[in-house]
Amino acid sequence: MNDAKLNSLLNNSIQSVQQVGKARAQKLNKLGIKTIGDLITYYPRDYEDRTREKKVSELADRDECAVILKVLSDVTLNRPRRNLRIYKAVAGDDSGLVTLTWFNQDYIRDKIVKNKTYVFFGKVKRLGSYIEMTNPVYEEAHSERKKTTGIQPVYPLTAGITQTYLRMIQRNALDIVTGKLTEILPDELRKQFSLAEINFSLEKIHFPTSFEEKERARKRLVFEELLMLQLGLLQLKNNQVTVSGIKMEEKPLVNRFISQLPFKLTKAQQRVYSEIEKDMTGEKQMNRLIQGDVGSGKTIVAVLAILLTVLNGYQAVFMVPTEILAEQHYQSILPLLENYDINIVLLTGSVSKKEKEKIKEGIKNNEYQIIIGTHALLQEDVDFARLGLVVTDEQHRFGVKQRAILASRSNPHILVMTATPIPRTLSLILYGDLDISIIDELPPERKPVKTYAVDESMRNRVYKFIKKTVQEGRQAYIICPLVEESDEIEAEAAASLANKLKEGDLRGLSIGLVHGKMKWKEKEKVMNDFSKGNIQVLVSTTVVEVGVNVPNACLMVVENAERFGLAQLHQLRGRVGRGRHQSYCILFCQSKSDIARKRMEIMTKYNDGFKISEKDMELRGPGDIFGVRQHGLPDFKIANLYEDMEILKEVQKACEDIIKNQKLSDREDYKRLKEHLLLMFEDKLSEVALN
Ligand code: ADP
Ligand code: MG
Repeated sequence: MNDAKLNSLLNNSIQSVQQVGKARAQKLNKLGIKTIGDLITYYPRDYEDRTREKKVSELADRDECAVILKVLSDVTLNRPRRNLRIYKAVAGDDSGLVTLTWFNQDYIRDKIVKNKTYVFFGKVKRLGSYIEMTNPVYEEAHSERKKTTGIQPVYPLTAGITQTYLRMIQRNALDIVTGKLTEILPDELRKQFSLAEINFSLEKIHFPTSFEEKERARKRLVFEELLMLQLGLLQLKNNQVTVSGIKMEEKPLVNRFISQLPFKLTKAQQRVYSEIEKDMTGEKQMNRLIQGDVGSGKTIVAVLAILLTVLNGYQAVFMVPTEILAEQHYQSILPLLENYDINIVLLTGSVSKKEKEKIKEGIKNNEYQIIIGTHALLQEDVDFARLGLVVTDEQHRFGVKQRAILASRSNPHILVMTATPIPRTLSLILYGDLDISIIDELPPERKPVKTYAVDESMRNRVYKFIKKTVQEGRQAYIICPLVEESDEIEAEAAASLANKLKEGDLRGLSIGLVHGKMKWKEKEKVMNDFSKGNIQVLVSTTVVEVGVNVPNACLMVVENAERFGLAQLHQLRGRVGRGRHQSYCILFCQSKSDIARKRMEIMTKYNDGFKISEKDMELRGPGDIFGVRQHGLPDFKIANLYEDMEILKEVQKACEDIIKNQKLSDREDYKRLKEHLLLMFEDKLSEVALN
């Protein structure tokens, strides 16, 4: 079958699969399954092993396996309640007896016949010599076995779609396409990395006859998925080489500005700025990521790039994930540039509609040279007169797509900043389209934050410590527990904690409160009061997690620290240790679980984000690699960045070779791969400016 025909086959509606009608199709849509192609790439999340077979005497509690049994009794019925009918039978082999139980399955009475032999598969309950199987599936022992053997796929489901049904239509769909799929990976690549063929892989990922087969299928599919993304990103980067950028001139005024700063730039800051300057004064568009641990001083580097842009007569956008951060950057940049004739404007979601129109008009007419704002900037159609630079701070809150949206307007230089320290292998797949600069040095005189994990018994001492800190003229944060999925409950909890402290243990101190449910004006006032020192203790939810900079605050207390991941704890702790004073972080941990204990240990032992991320990867955490989930990665259909690290490394080796030897453009056997790549990226990353 040729490619075009096959494509149309895969794009056929699932209703062309046997047993899929209109009603079921609608339910499948909810799982993101619209076409045959969607269905066969809807991969199992797990497998049930029905290949194991045991004798009764070998059965252990909680086993899941098949047993061949002769039914020794009639099926009896028991009705303990209305709507509950329990069918039971006793069966056995030459080594022992098993009680079989089914709930509400009325047909059992006719199907299970005394003195006949069946294979039963199900979960075993064993209490001493009493053995029971509940709701086992069964087949007559001498028939062809389908249900009680083999490895059965287990899919994520939705209402109205059962496991059995999904398995059946998956089978039907595969019967349509298997054998007809064309291989896109060149033989050379498949040989080098031992990758299974595509028809085999798709068949066996759903219906393997052994786990070894499943693994081979999986490896190939994971490899392909990661390869496409990685190659795509690298291609994008290569394309950017040919995108001519806005060529700027070096400005001596920037150097004067640097020499007038209240501090001396670190060597790392200087190096990173010179990399930026080289990009921006060069021929091509800059696409650069600055990676630097919390507190390493990324903001000032961005300000230098912004200044260079403005001095060249262009506008610069500084985009941040929260309003608090936008306001803070605005407040700190304003005085730095007050002697320059530059207009700076703040544009966030809370600006009134009328004002927003005015600001947008001003941006369009080049009245503003620096625009600081939140996502609002992205969501609305802001026209720029002369956009020269887009900086996105704390990139882990923005996705690949979001960052591409602004870039597509013209082709401004792009600078992305992140504090998430991730190993190179991962940053390549997360940011493969960007050049990377690393600020690997903290400003001098920074003392590591002393961190302690404590339990309830220390509470009074912690309050004393807060009072002492305040008496010495410093300030403190108290971070409230994370409440998943509910900003409201979280806000309430924070408010009640603040009240309790005001009237109780911290009476007499000036206590402020900030949370996500507050109106922007209130938030702004509280944050201003805190940075001016009018508030001594700030009770807060994680709204202060990113970027907030109040150097006089040198104590952070985190309630229910066990609810936070390491990435988040590290970010939070980054709010202190920003000034000359010795800073402290106290983690209240109520959990005695292994993982919580280990996390606390890591936090108390290490201050370096890279180190913590490494440790985090060793721990695995709940499936989240040091905040990778927050990166706005495309959802992988099958790959899992943690588990598949080894495959990812192979993929990167393959990519290097493909690009270095220009195989996509030169080689006939890579043609299919290239076409596939173009198709995929046109579709998925169409916002990215390639022209
Ligand atoms: P982050 O990298 O986390 O965004 P910031 O840019 O907010 O860090 O900087 C943290 C603090 O360090 C700020 O108060 C900033 O003024 C200060 N700072 C930045 N660079 C230096 C430096 N070279 N020497 C001393 N202090 C610095
Ligand atoms: Mg920052």
